[in-house]
Amino acid sequence: MLANRLSAAGHRVLLLETGGSDRNFWIHLPVGYFKTIYDARFSRLFDTEPQPSSGSRNILWPRGRVLGGSSSINGLIYIRGQHADYDDWAAAGATGWDYRSVLPYFKSTENYAGGESEYHGASGELGVSDLRNDHPYCAAWVEAGTQFGLPFNADFNAATEYGVGAYQLSIKDGWRSSSARAFLRPAMRRENLAVLTGAHVSRVLFEGTRAVGVEWREGGTLRQARASREVILSAGAIQSPQILQLSGVGPAALLREHGIAVVADAPQVGENLQDHYQARTIVRLKKPLSLNDDVRNPLKLAQMGLQWLLANRGPLTVGAGQVGGFAKTRHAGDGRADMQFNVMPLSVDKPGDPLHDYSGFTASACQCRPLSRGRLRIRSSDPLAAPRIEPNYLVEEHDRKVLVAGLEMLREIYRQPAFRDLWDAEVLPGDDGLLEFARTKGGTVFHPTSTCRMGGDAGAVVDPQLRVRGVEGLRVIDASVMPSVISANTNAATIMIGEKGAALLQV
Ligand SMILES: Cc1cc2nc3c(=O)[nH]c(=O)nc-3n(C[C@H](O)[C@H](O)[C@H](O)COP(=O)(O)OP(=O)(O)OC[C@H]3O[C@@H](n4cnc5c(N)ncnc54)[C@H](O)[C@@H]3O)c2cc1C
Repeated sequence: MLANRLSAAGHRVLLLETGGSDRNFWIHLPVGYFKTIYDARFSRLFDTEPQPSSGSRNILWPRGRVLGGSSSINGLIYIRGQHADYDDWAAAGATGWDYRSVLPYFKSTENYAGGESEYHGASGELGVSDLRNDHPYCAAWVEAGTQFGLPFNADFNAATEYGVGAYQLSIKDGWRSSSARAFLRPAMRRENLAVLTGAHVSRVLFEGTRAVGVEWREGGTLRQARASREVILSAGAIQSPQILQLSGVGPAALLREHGIAVVADAPQVGENLQDHYQARTIVRLKKPLSLNDDVRNPLKLAQMGLQWLLANRGPLTVGAGQVGGFAKTRHAGDGRADMQFNVMPLSVDKPGDPLHDYSGFTASACQCRPLSRGRLRIRSSDPLAAPRIEPNYLVEEHDRKVLVAGLEMLREIYRQPAFRDLWDAEVLPGDDGLLEFARTKGGTVFHPTSTCRMGGDAGAVVDPQLRVRGVEGLRVIDASVMPSVISANTNAATIMIGEKGAALLQV
């Protein structure tokens, strides 16, 4: 996004990407997500520290390591969160980032198949499409959600996120619309944009406190480039704070421990880590109508392929969720939805593993705005070493209560008239207590954010113009600057941050 907008405005841009090209069929086929997410050619698998609050397990955190970053391997759900998420950002000191101010940046990036409206844009580059797969049991689940008492929501990206309905997906003409495909590829023809892959940034170069360039490793060689205007970090919520710490911008004691000269003591770099943590319920369907059944049936597989080829429809056009919704648990004190449900007519241990050999149907519960805060710190001055990631999932009692309440709601939805006759056994959570189940079997929804928190206070890592405090000539523009995680999947908001960030750079 940034490379596109800045090169279009006539700036000379050098884009450094540690991963490789995104030229691979599975990256672009929407359902290919199940194949690429844990494939080390496209994804770097970070590991969290085992923590008692989440069952003393390490949890894998894949992040895209390829052109397009995580948008090349993500689950394609296009959703912006709640209007109040952005109003919260502004109230926390991110002046200019309230909902009304950011809406134009969502719209200008978007090419919504449903056309231009108060909430949607149709002339941007990022393809956004309504769900293109009809599964009778997904429809039945949505109906059950309304019988449970949730409103039907025809567009989660319009007036409200609240209710149940079908997701929109980042898809154009049947293919994934990653940020590389939507924004970077068209800009690569420009002579003032240079894109280097296999280039791992090791640190930002400073003269005094002014960022003057970057150093990176390419093959076995260390290389440097100088920036006449600015250096921008867009390495994501794990690696932007890591690069800052490696460059001497971070908690002074931590940097000294690793022999790194302190450029600016910035205690909050890597702090305030937030992620969405989910627990999945699975029921066994009475009839063999799960995708688990379809993928074992050569005829159905051929039908799916044809549906995609001829009509850009069907199961191959979906990613991480098809339908879902947002609900208020009894703990939602502020009247806003605090729970997201993700629903799929299949079941699997984790994406990439074989689908179960029974007719499974999955609905997961995920707290929208966890109070628990984690942290991320380098464990070595080696830029290739992974940082120490402590998510601190569920350390706050409120988070534990909300997640358990969400699982209870899912059980109630399965029991509504539209769904109750379709299944005969609950596979998960089963007999475990709900909290124990959530603690020991839950996992990430892949949305780490906020490790370079934006704010108006002196402790914030970046100011509302996304400039790193304490130094000059350096900005962070990615998911790490969110003051707090939004109440939904994070890709659309990150792209909006890129669009608004590009505008801020040019004033
Ligand atoms: C498996 C998965 C599924 C997801 N599903 C969804 C979904 O369905 N919907 C949704 O909205 N969101 C989803 N997300 C989240 C969403 O994709 C991310 O929030 C978003 O892509 C974050 O963008 P970013 O620019 O902050 O970081 P990233 O997209 O992670 O980009 C960072 C880039 O920087 C590169 N990089 C890192 N370090 C260096 C270095 N030292 N030198 C050079 N390059 C470096 C990386 O290789 C990468 O290309 C998912 C994420 C994952 C991983």
